Amino acid sequence: MGCWEEVIQNLISCGYLRSEKVIQAMRKIPRADFLPPEARPYACEDRPLPIGFGQTISAPHMYAIMLEAAQVQEGNKVLEVGAGSGYGAALLSFLAGKKGKVYSIEVVPQLAEFARKNIQKSKMHAVIIEGDGKQGYPEEAPYDRILVTAAAISLPAPLLLQLAEGGRMLAPIGGLFQELVLLEKTKSGILQRSLLPVLFVPLR
Ligand code: SAH
Repeated sequence: MGCWEEVIQNLISCGYLRSEKVIQAMRKIPRADFLPPEARPYACEDRPLPIGFGQTISAPHMYAIMLEAAQVQEGNKVLEVGAGSGYGAALLSFLAGKKGKVYSIEVVPQLAEFARKNIQKSKMHAVIIEGDGKQGYPEEAPYDRILVTAAAISLPAPLLLQLAEGGRMLAPIGGLFQELVLLEKTKSGILQRSLLPVLFVPLR
């Protein structure tokens, strides 16, 4: 058994990975393919790893938690804020399927390029946009799912506006102490709950 399959088995036995589709996504797309060469030997360690420019790729269990909570459906239009390595966007693209669409915004130009190359190599389809994710991407709004992968003190208002009714958003909120928050936009308003304490790089 390769080390990535061991990671998957661990995430399943810890209860982080539960749904067949998310398990398939992580199994099919190994994190190693989204790392710079010097970080690749550590790909199977369940912790964030540096991807350059002071940024990190999240720990495998964090992708599992976010993707399970996001409940991405085939055909969904998804927005990610913070493309980084492109790993999250590739997983989202697998989950949204051929009929779905994934947009991911990245503020560091070199990382936007890094993400694009990695996604292309993995044969997934996601559009990487260079820019400030706090503004969202109004051109393609509304989105069925929005995943924010950098932490803000409070949720940027444009993101909530660009969430479709019936949509789900996940975002780390806070400064020194952050929580991963799940927001659902329903007919009667916004449902919000905090899932767990987390630590993400700050949203710039
Ligand atoms: N989802 C990424 C995780 C990247 S870490 C992955 O799978 O690898 C968070 C990323 O958010 C970093 O790449 C950082 O440069 C980016 N970021 C920070 N502030 C941002 C902003 N205002 N707009 C867009 N991206 C931002």
